[in-house]
Amino acid sequence: DTPLSPIPFALRIRPLTCTETRRGDRQVVRSLGDGTVHVTEARHDATFGFSAVFDAGASQEAVFEGSGMRQLVELAIDGFSCTVFAFGQTGSGKTYTLMGPLTQSKSQPSSPGLLGLMQRSFTYLLEQSRSRGGDLALSASYLEIYNEQVRDLLSPGPPCALPLRWSKTRGFYVENQLSVDFESLETITDLLLQGSQRRQTSAHALNRHSSRSHALLTIHIRSRTSILPTRVPQPSACPSKLGTLCFVDLAGSERVKETGSSGELSVEANNINRSLLALGHCISLLAKPRGKRTHIPYRDSKLTRLLARSLGGSGITLMVACISPSSRCLSETLSTLHYASRARKVTTRR
Ligand code: ADP
Ligand code: MG
Repeated sequence: DTPLSPIPFALRIRPLTCTETRRGDRQVVRSLGDGTVHVTEARHDATFGFSAVFDAGASQEAVFEGSGMRQLVELAIDGFSCTVFAFGQTGSGKTYTLMGPLTQSKSQPSSPGLLGLMQRSFTYLLEQSRSRGGDLALSASYLEIYNEQVRDLLSPGPPCALPLRWSKTRGFYVENQLSVDFESLETITDLLLQGSQRRQTSAHALNRHSSRSHALLTIHIRSRTSILPTRVPQPSACPSKLGTLCFVDLAGSERVKETGSSGELSVEANNINRSLLALGHCISLLAKPRGKRTHIPYRDSKLTRLLARSLGGSGITLMVACISPSSRCLSETLSTLHYASRARKVTTRR
């Protein structure tokens, strides 16, 4: 038996925004170094531990290097199902951490220093592919879950819902999802940009570009040599080398009442919260010792179905919790930190 290891869990505290500073918000979260953060002004001051903490001054590069993202890319190349997901309330920096500041066009790319975990991973993956003489065949798919419907972000035309199915061999999978081959950074960056623009966004009191959907970009990595006919039959112990690297940008975790949502917006918010609750439920059940584990209700939401393999199986997950340091966000920040400390107890088999 391989040892159980806790899910690596990074925390990123974004800087106070100009608006927050102007209106006099206080900074209530501080990194204490050695992986802990301290929250003041809560009913009781509280300290939380993480595998890595990045405060307002941390660069995008520091997050890539210090979170374990580089190693995750390597594990995906080795054939593992790897997932990184960013969660936290709207405006806490999830998209910034994954993609950098959003640019709306190809003509004005962000400065290289601001590129997020995704672009840095693509660069590293392509470097690795080149150093193996182009041995890796790469393709990408990009989905969103919006109001409990799975949509393809890469297929042109109006978004249509795709069925999510289950089979014994594949587990949960999305039928007819588009998968696009790529060999250059430019191609995959274009796919990312096109897909992100198709993502549902709507005006919102907390963040005008608040994303109301969960977005999952998956890179499929196949080793070309393992699919060529081989003279010697492959020993059965040799796994078929098909790795995946999935980036999950979760919708905001805030509660409805604080965002002033109404009507259609509140239906969205309820669906978002229901799937985050389902995710939290699966995570807390997985946190129990293996012998005492009951059935894990992956089927409770589309999100947990799509993440079943990475959370429960032999998948490897990296979590990045994002928070604002502002006093105005205190209760959401605490709920993110509590959610994270529960999830940190989950162990996976390597
Ligand atoms: P979310 O995706 O969680 O809703 P965003 O990533 O859109 O949040 O971030 C909200 C705002 O804060 C954006 O304007 C973003 O550019 C800014 N921001 C987030 N994190 C950082 C950071 N680490 N450094 C500078 N600006 C940031
Ligand atoms: Mg976002």
